[in-house]
Amino acid sequence: MYPQDKLSQWYQGQGHWADVPEADWKNWKWQLKNRISRVEQVEQYLKLSPEERQGCYFSGSKLALSVTPYFFNLIDPNDPDDPIRRQVIPRSEEMETAPEELLDPVGEEGSMAEKGIVHRYPDRVLFLVTDRCASYCRYCTRSRLVSNAQDYNFHPEFESGLKYIESHPEIRDVLLSGGDPLLLSERKLDYLLGRLRAIPHVEFIRIGSRIPVFLPQRITPELCEILKKHGPIWMSIHVNHPNECTEELRAATERLSFAGVPLGNQSVLLKGVNDDLQTMKQLVHRLLMMRVRPYYLYQCDLITGSAHLRTDVRKGIEIIRGLRGHTTGYAVPQYVIDAPGGGGKVPINPEYIQELNDDEVVIRNFEGKIYRYPLVNGVPMAISASGDEPGGAFCG
Ligand SMILES: *Cc1c(COP(=O)(O)O)cnc(C)c1O
Repeated sequence: MYPQDKLSQWYQGQGHWADVPEADWKNWKWQLKNRISRVEQVEQYLKLSPEERQGCYFSGSKLALSVTPYFFNLIDPNDPDDPIRRQVIPRSEEMETAPEELLDPVGEEGSMAEKGIVHRYPDRVLFLVTDRCASYCRYCTRSRLVSNAQDYNFHPEFESGLKYIESHPEIRDVLLSGGDPLLLSERKLDYLLGRLRAIPHVEFIRIGSRIPVFLPQRITPELCEILKKHGPIWMSIHVNHPNECTEELRAATERLSFAGVPLGNQSVLLKGVNDDLQTMKQLVHRLLMMRVRPYYLYQCDLITGSAHLRTDVRKGIEIIRGLRGHTTGYAVPQYVIDAPGGGGKVPINPEYIQELNDDEVVIRNFEGKIYRYPLVNGVPMAISASGDEPGGAFCG
């Protein structure tokens, strides 16, 4: 039994859509068809600020405005700073570009080995299989190609991507993303997963998806059957705030878990959404209760028009410091910066090593107390300055 008192207190079921038959509400196709995507629709339910209204008007040339009724309902209409609202309702600031911002902030185009295949790490690839999502996150790192609002003209192609993976035996890990792969039809997903499973060197398949959060109705028994059939399929979902942890999400993650899908979560650190310790702690606790292991906490990429949503890196470090040791180890995500320009994900950690000298390592625990540990059997260990990692004596 899920502790009901831990769920969003104010969430009111169908909310604005109370008149809609329950069967429609629970139908993912109804949810998609009835997405909020025009400013007039938004204004039916929310009193917009001038910045938001302008953002809605301009969004079509940057990243489409689109929110499922289910997710829209999680916005508290009486709170202009609501954390769900900040994630999906456009603002005029999105049209501004700060000097440090980029259209392709993590340099994916430079690692595009084949159409839709980003091959940055030696043993794994990112396979972009669609340009559509159920709702659009205003800080989307891939806004250049997602929703087709810009001139990118992305046409996902399965065959060339599959051929690339088939002909590169070093690829043991394939990450399906997009857009949201769970928007594909069951037939296409079945085909894609079947083809990937048939490649002998592909050991690990995972899907990056925000569908369980935006559209939990999509996690149907039929979809789960396909994931189970090709399993183990791992999944990274994307929850940023405890208010997203509804009964619907809980039930969707349960269906996925029961189909044998191990679940991780990737949050993005966002100003005014989750950039505070108490919010983040509540989020990671709720995730564990839903069988979801917090995986990464991303520093927000330098995507154009995201300055109003980005937070100081020191804030992220402070949050991790406040979690590590203070709560369940499983609840602590790895904070990372996806290095601008294509360096990949770099872990950012609070400093727990106070000193590392020829004899010992001086360490600081979660309470700030200092401890000492000798280096390997009293033998001083040379730490090379060439970037090699120190040996195993104090790792892990
Ligand atoms: C994030 C990412 C991966 C997966 O990285 P993990 O650390 O294994 O989760 C793979 N390829 C690209 C291009 C990525 O951005």
